[in-house]
Amino acid sequence: MASNLRVLFLAAEADPLVKIGGLGDVAGSLPKALRALSKPKSTVDVRLALPFHGAIQRKNFPVRRLMNFSIDLPISSIQAEAYSLEIEGLPIYLISGPPIPSDAPVYSSDILADGRKFIFFSLAALELSRHLDWAPHIVHANDWHTAPALRALSMEKPRNQFFKRTKKVLGIHNLPFLGNGAGPAMIEFGLSPAKQTALPAWAQELPLPLGILSADKVVAASPSYAREITTKEFGSGLQEFLSTIQDRIVGILNGIDLQVWNPLTDRFLPENFDSGSLEKRGRIKVALQAELGLDQRPKVPLFAMINRMDVQKGVDLVPEALLALSKIPGVANLPWQIIILGAGDPGLEAKMRQLEAWFPDRARVETRYDEPLSRRIYGGADMLFIPSRYEPCGLTQMIGMHYGCVPVARAVGGLRDTIQDYDSTEDSTGFLFEEASPQAMADGIGRALKVFSNRSAWRSLQHRGMSRDFSWVGLANKYLDLYRSLISSKS
Ligand code: ADP
Repeated sequence: MASNLRVLFLAAEADPLVKIGGLGDVAGSLPKALRALSKPKSTVDVRLALPFHGAIQRKNFPVRRLMNFSIDLPISSIQAEAYSLEIEGLPIYLISGPPIPSDAPVYSSDILADGRKFIFFSLAALELSRHLDWAPHIVHANDWHTAPALRALSMEKPRNQFFKRTKKVLGIHNLPFLGNGAGPAMIEFGLSPAKQTALPAWAQELPLPLGILSADKVVAASPSYAREITTKEFGSGLQEFLSTIQDRIVGILNGIDLQVWNPLTDRFLPENFDSGSLEKRGRIKVALQAELGLDQRPKVPLFAMINRMDVQKGVDLVPEALLALSKIPGVANLPWQIIILGAGDPGLEAKMRQLEAWFPDRARVETRYDEPLSRRIYGGADMLFIPSRYEPCGLTQMIGMHYGCVPVARAVGGLRDTIQDYDSTEDSTGFLFEEASPQAMADGIGRALKVFSNRSAWRSLQHRGMSRDFSWVGLANKYLDLYRSLISSKS
């Protein structure tokens, strides 16, 4: 067994350098959690590599220039520059070069440009480890952006002698994003399509399918998602292929970084609290109502949503679900307020802003990315709505529970694995509904509202959610076991 396990972790984003969504949280916290498992005689030498996006602010993150090198393409080559920094003991490499323009957003609507950016990055990260003479035992890529690294490793090339013992792990945080349209960029960079394989013909040149094909192990972001992706509803057309490689797919939940998400130390909360001082949440709620121009009424249930504005998240179900509430016996006349924070699809943003016209006294819709506000919402709102159509893992429910904000969520993917439904177990932590429909959601909210009116039952529910262990420690150990089993296997 290796006493020094070397893991190269590749991602498109990582907190605190640059974060767009949950992948940023995961890539910001899992490598750190893995490194923390080091013991005096067996170190876990995880290093993180990211594209040097323009959004990474040099003034906040002083970097050291490491080296220049070139990436060979079939008919030319491109120069790459590598920089390094360390955050809380985690070595991080940032890679720049012409395909990673500093004025481009992390993800754009130009898939070919994004394809070139991330494929270039994936190849450059491998090349960098060769220049550093640091051969990883594991390359752990994540989603379509860095899946090309695994395809490159699996192709027979002399340069891959250096990686001959390297095992390939692919984290799937969002299967439908296959890198559709990036096929020509794969070919441009010498990553040829996989003909005559189990992949369907349309997927043979796409980054994520090729990464899955190449990976020794595929890690879905929750056990439920690992099963769901082999079905037609969630398989993005790859379900049959994925069923044939089911023995290579595992599901490991994501955790949250409890140093980053802690209501007792969160500097963006007007008051800090823990499960012993939940009464302070009432004051945070009133401050939040004041901040957003809602009536300051601590006893009125305050609903919230914090997510990308994307059909995946089921945001579009909310307006009709709220209307349907008014037809549920025992709930119809109850007051409520809602705060929605989310940025993304402009059409959805506009649709959600209409809620303010429908419910001028009750609804506030903030269509921007605003982490400090998100923290005040987790700390002050009573219920967090997560009506996702699919949810590989989801972090907001865990953050919500950890902050005493009770999830009302669709029973899907990681939501099903992390939330225990109120009516199904005494150990409940939230409310789950099965169907992605406004009526099913309204029924779920209705059940939650009835419990909300019973103060002590609600407190107990909050306490149970807050006492759940959402930390990375146990989960990072699962990854470590997986890495070790891969490097000790003969194949
Ligand atoms: P996904 O990765 O699919 O976007 P997750 O639930 O896994 O969803 O993670 C979302 C992360 O992004 C959470 O940390 C959440 O707080 C944060 N987030 C999403 N939208 C916003 C927003 N508009 N402002 C601030 N934080 C946001």
